[in-house]
Amino acid sequence: MIFRKIGHRIIVVVGAVVIAGLVAMALFYAEKQRESIIAQNEEAANKMTGSLIRVLETVMLAGYADIAQAFANSLRSIPEVHEFRIMRTNGLEAFRDNTTISAVNLYRGEEDFFPRDEEIEVPIYAADNPRLREVLQKGEMVRYYDVAASGERFLTYLVPIENKNQCHKCHGDSQQYRGVIKLTSTLARVDADITKAWQQSMAVLAIVVTFILLVTWWLVRRSIVQPIHRVTEAMEAVSRGDMSQKVPVLGKDELGSMAKSFNRMSSELQSTYLGLHHEQNKLTTIILSAQEGIVVTNALGEVVLVNPAAEYLLQKSHAQIVEEGFMQVFDNEALMASWLKLSEQTLEPIIYEYKGRLLSTSIATIRNPEGQVVGSSAMLRDITNQKKLEEELRALSNTDGLTKLFNRRFLDETLKAELERSYRYGTELGILMFDVDHFKKFNDEHGHDQGDRVLQVIAREMRRVSRSLDFPCRYGGEEFLIILPNTSMEGAMVLAERLRADIAATVVDGLQVTISIGVSSARDHKPVDAAAFIALADGALYEAKREGRNCVRSATAQAAH
Ligand code: GH3
Ligand code: MG
Ligand code: MG
Repeated sequence: MIFRKIGHRIIVVVGAVVIAGLVAMALFYAEKQRESIIAQNEEAANKMTGSLIRVLETVMLAGYADIAQAFANSLRSIPEVHEFRIMRTNGLEAFRDNTTISAVNLYRGEEDFFPRDEEIEVPIYAADNPRLREVLQKGEMVRYYDVAASGERFLTYLVPIENKNQCHKCHGDSQQYRGVIKLTSTLARVDADITKAWQQSMAVLAIVVTFILLVTWWLVRRSIVQPIHRVTEAMEAVSRGDMSQKVPVLGKDELGSMAKSFNRMSSELQSTYLGLHHEQNKLTTIILSAQEGIVVTNALGEVVLVNPAAEYLLQKSHAQIVEEGFMQVFDNEALMASWLKLSEQTLEPIIYEYKGRLLSTSIATIRNPEGQVVGSSAMLRDITNQKKLEEELRALSNTDGLTKLFNRRFLDETLKAELERSYRYGTELGILMFDVDHFKKFNDEHGHDQGDRVLQVIAREMRRVSRSLDFPCRYGGEEFLIILPNTSMEGAMVLAERLRADIAATVVDGLQVTISIGVSSARDHKPVDAAAFIALADGALYEAKREGRNCVRSATAQAAH
């Protein structure tokens, strides 16, 4: 489309309609004018021809035929008269030879008219010329328009010369017509007038069309193009993000209500935009300052968001994460693919150790309400410290505060579990239980704090002599118990004796204590439960006490030390 602008199109349409209308009008009036000029011309020519015939009649009746020829010749000098001829009915020019003179003299019987000295024959029309025949047949004036090879137009009148009563004196009454007058006038001036009139109408037409187009253009620009242009410019500014655009509301027409609607729309947009911007700022702040690492992709899988926490936790730069892509966040594409698959079934975070950190990772495929995938996201939370704290907490809940040995709660749970395991798999399980000898007295003599320090040293020695798979526990007060998985009665006895001797030989702040130990074995004594198991060992301990202390006794064979 060449005319892309609405103003141009309106001007073209209006211009075309106006020009078509005015041209039709101009053509109509020009044609009317032409007809009127021609009619005037014909009327003038008619009058001239009529008067010529009267002159000729007068001249001829006066008997001066030669004057008629002279008159005819003089007429030719008039610019509009191209040709003026007087001819006989046979088409030959009159007054050129003596034919008529002789006939008249013969008819009158007198030699009234002198013959010419010089005779020439000038044919104007052939005797059978159709025009000549027509005029003589009709007996009235006939008119022809001719066009010369040069384009010049001519109007020819053929007028019959009647043989009236007055003529009979010389010419007799045998002929109805004496001859024919041929008057040819050029239409050059008439045509020039028509052309001039046509040119003038065209000039007026051009001026009127130009004026109408200019007025239309001005009106279209003022009332349509400019208001639309203002709204378009404002819309473009809005599309570039400038929401403060307003356009003037001029008038109450469609364009006025368009401007009004636009202003309403732009203020709506502005408030929505500001609200969104505000929310976006909040969101950005949250994302940037979040402790959780966030990596988000678009529908094409391209990473579009990486927050500083993600950079820190993954120990990679923003650019590197973007470049490597989402599937390489943990440098393991297959792993990521399996997590993505898993994320369709469960929302449980995945705990993954990466570069020395324990990361709680939530992988998700993001879908729009229509269910189409619009991206993926990974949320990373550093739970290294949390895990450590949990471990410490768990250790604390299992540990005795003074001695750092397993506490009574842990003892009960573990002994129950180990006893079950022993019965199920037929493995050995031994326990040894001991009590510090005369500790009441020790406290009394050396103070409770000193007693505590002794208990701490006893605990240290328990850990030292037992294996890593054993569970050294504080049973309560100054009573202790060691659970010995996969340990037979004999093995437990050996360990008990080693511990007894070890404690007896240990000096704490220059002081020494002894312990009495009871030993029991699951395979040997078959206790029904943990409590019975402990009761067996306690029984043996009681025996040891009873038999003098600082010794080891087993639940069944209470062998003397
Ligand atoms: P026996 O040889 O018969 O065991 O005599 P004993 O005095 O040790 O008697 P018993 O075992 O009944 O005494 C327990 C004493 O142990 C009571 C208390 O003074 C002391 N004791 C218990 N728990 C603690 C503790 O946590 N710290 C200290 N310092 N002493 C404790
Ligand atoms: Mg005791
Ligand atoms: Mg005691």
